[in-house]
Amino acid sequence: MAATAQKLTPIPNLERISQRVIRILGCNPRPLTLQGTNTYLVGTGPKRILIDAGDPEVPDYINNLKKALKDFQSSIQEIVITHWHKDHVGGVQDVCREVLQSSDIKVSKFSRPEGHEEYNIGFPYNFVKDNAVFQTEGATLKALFTPGHSDDHMVLLLEEDRAIFSGDTILGETTAMFEDLHTYMASLDRILQIRPSVIYPSHGPIITDPVDKVTNYINHRLTRERQIEETLGQDPNAWLTSMELVERIYVGLADGLKHAANINVCQHLLKLVKDGKVEFEERDGTKVWKKKCQSNM
Ligand SMILES: [Zn+2]
Repeated sequence: MAATAQKLTPIPNLERISQRVIRILGCNPRPLTLQGTNTYLVGTGPKRILIDAGDPEVPDYINNLKKALKDFQSSIQEIVITHWHKDHVGGVQDVCREVLQSSDIKVSKFSRPEGHEEYNIGFPYNFVKDNAVFQTEGATLKALFTPGHSDDHMVLLLEEDRAIFSGDTILGETTAMFEDLHTYMASLDRILQIRPSVIYPSHGPIITDPVDKVTNYINHRLTRERQIEETLGQDPNAWLTSMELVERIYVGLADGLKHAANINVCQHLLKLVKDGKVEFEERDGTKVWKKKCQSNM
C-alpha cells in the first residue's frame, strides 16, 4: 500500500524485465495499490518461482499469468508471498484453481506473530525463517525478514543480479505505508546495507537507483518527523488530534488518502512519545498530542 496520489507511470500487463524476471501486473489498480500489485516470475527454466499472486477474483491477472507461462514455456514451481495483505496473497487460490488446476503447490512466507491471523488460502502455508533460500533454474532467492510495513514482511534478494524484490517496504512511486516505524526504519537499513543494483517493488515502476531511493526514504521519514515536531511546536499549548496534524502537514491531500497519512502520522507520534519529545492524552476516546514542555521549571 502507498500513501499519496500522483500521476502514475504506466506499467504494461506483462513484461520481461530482465533475463531472469518477468513482471505480471495484478490488474487491481486502486489509490493504495497504485497501478496494481506487481507479481514476478523468477528463473530461466521450465519451472519458475512466482512472487506474490495479487488480489482475488481478477480474471485479467490470471489470463496474463497464463500468457506469461505459455510465452516462456514454463510452469510455476512454487509461490513465495512477501506479506499477508490481500493484494499480495489473495490471488493464490485463483492461481491454484485456474492456472495449476491443483492446490499441490508450496506457498511460502514468514509467519505472523502468534495470535495474528493469516490470510486463508484454503491449505497450509510453508512458513520459512529469515535467510531461507528458494532455488530454481537460473535464480537463487534469499528471504530477508524486513518487518515494518507488516509484521511478517519479506523482501527477496535475487543473488545472481543483486536485485531486491522489495514488496511494500519500498514502492516505485509515492511513499510506503508502515505499521511500526521503528522496525520499518531498521528494515530500510537492512536493504541499504545490501547495496542492491536494482529494486523491483510490489507497486510502481522498477527502481534503478536503489541506494539513492532507500536513502531518500530514510530522509523522508526524518523530515516528516521534524515537520510533526515543528507543527506541534507552533502552538506549544495546543492539543491536536493526529488528523488535525495531517490537515496541516499534508496540504491538498485527497480525502481518500487522509486515513493512510493519519496512520503514518500516528506512528511518528508514538515514536516521538518514546523519544520523550511529545505527550498525549485521551479525550473522548481520541488521542490528542502536544509537544512536551522542555523547560526546567
Ligand atoms: Zn501491497
